[in-house]
Amino acid sequence: MAAESVGDRLDETTCDRLRNRVTTVGSREALPVTAPYTNEVVGTVPRCRPADIDAAVDRARSAQSAWAARSVENRATVLKRFADSVLANRERLLDVIQVETGKTRLDALAEVLDVVLTADYYAENGPEQLAGSRRGSRLPGLTRVETHHDPVGVAGFVEPWNYPLTLAISDFLPALLAGNTVVLKPAEETPFTALLAHELLVEVGVPEETVQVVTGEGEPLGEPLVAGVDQITFTGSTETGRAIGSLAGKHLVDASLELGGKNPAIVLADADLDAAVRALVWGSYANAGQLCLSFERIYVEQSAYAEFRDRFVEATASRSLGATFDFGPNVGSLISEAQRSVVETHVEDARARGATVLTGGERREDVGPLFYEPTVLADLPAEATAATEETFGPVVTIEPVADATAGVRQANATDYGLHASVWTADRERGRSLARQIRAGSVSVNDAFAGMWASTDAPMGGVGDSGIGRRHGPEGISKFTETQTVTSQRGPPLVPIDAVPAGIVARGAILGIGAVRRLKRRFPPWL
Ligand code: NAD
Repeated sequence: MAAESVGDRLDETTCDRLRNRVTTVGSREALPVTAPYTNEVVGTVPRCRPADIDAAVDRARSAQSAWAARSVENRATVLKRFADSVLANRERLLDVIQVETGKTRLDALAEVLDVVLTADYYAENGPEQLAGSRRGSRLPGLTRVETHHDPVGVAGFVEPWNYPLTLAISDFLPALLAGNTVVLKPAEETPFTALLAHELLVEVGVPEETVQVVTGEGEPLGEPLVAGVDQITFTGSTETGRAIGSLAGKHLVDASLELGGKNPAIVLADADLDAAVRALVWGSYANAGQLCLSFERIYVEQSAYAEFRDRFVEATASRSLGATFDFGPNVGSLISEAQRSVVETHVEDARARGATVLTGGERREDVGPLFYEPTVLADLPAEATAATEETFGPVVTIEPVADATAGVRQANATDYGLHASVWTADRERGRSLARQIRAGSVSVNDAFAGMWASTDAPMGGVGDSGIGRRHGPEGISKFTETQTVTSQRGPPLVPIDAVPAGIVARGAILGIGAVRRLKRRFPPWL
């Protein structure tokens, strides 16, 4: 039973060692960390104060020039070594992630693999993405133009509990590669995962001060962090994202905000229903639905609805719940009583408004104190909370739609726009429908893993799902300032005092006209 083994997986000695990685000024009030599998406190970390953030930012700033002075190839080698270390230490990481989050071991493994994919991707592609380039001028021949990408300086990160390794660590790897130092505030529920990753980073050659981990609650720490850093990356709820965005505006700091979603899937009648059921069940209940990309709304073309619904409900009901540290169970625990309360409130509100609970809809305290059954709702009225607000739990609604057009209309009936999925035997049609869905990413005939693992492609949200992208060249350029250097091949481009302004104006207009004519004739080469 997990209840007996939580302490074995993250013992007091390890908690003490990791806790000491957090540097505080003044007293160290303790913030307890609870294991969802048993609801017991496994350890404490410092409840940092604004002064601790200020000091962490100062240390990161002092360390930045030495880190940036290394060659980008050297930093890439460190990232590769980190990927090796994360793989080699995966069992320790999986234990700590599971203890802090209550997720299944397979869900935890996805985090480990993501860090490896991201570290490898930026180690291999980052140096080229950061290389300066020659650019064109609208006045050919007169001006030589080059651009350079410099680190912004100190990059700040505020991260959530649902993927404490993937989000807290992968998100800052491109920032490090670009020569920035980092101040990270992990979620108060999951600090030990970040601290263990920090220990591994230092072991592979990242200087201790280069990444600062500050533990504690968001409310007092957010403002000093945003005020102190040169770029802020936030992943979490839309509500907190708005607060961070306001602070970023106030302090004129660039912000990347990865927020919530209410992700739809559309299943057309010609889809492979076996594959669709398998993928959407997994995609709805992975991480017990506490996943920004997971599905909460499934629209099925009318003629396939009954068959899809029955198969989906049967597959959902057969998911196995478990609080164990092996690869057995399919569905893990919710993170906290607060999160369970949101899930229960949404399901009870749906019931009260006449929705049908096709399966699930109950606590499973026999498995663990915070477990909740994978739940399928039907006949959900549009005014129900679960119809519009993100549940962030194991609850999905299925609904018939007349055709693909109606499916797209329903998919777009939300202020969110993070991710969507389309199922059809005609992949070209699927891609065309994807282009009609207002979302930062759409997977055709997949849940989301193929999209997420396409690390060269940007990922992020539109609307209430956020601003900015992770992954790909976009995921590293946000951690740079671009400097443009131009040098004149001839005299400076200024009017000559001896020439009357009217003649200068005519010359300029004639010159621009000549350039435009030339560009029309020889467009690619000019
Ligand atoms: P949250 O917004 O409550 O907390 C996220 C982080 O913000 C935590 O570290 C928290 O301490 C901090 N925080 C809270 N209030 C703050 C404040 N006033 N100022 C500064 N920091 C503050 O979110 P959560 O409950 O931890 O995470 C769940 C949410 O995250 C869901 O909405 C989910 O969709 C979203 N999410 C989005 C993505 C994405 O990539 N788009 C990924 C994962 C999770």
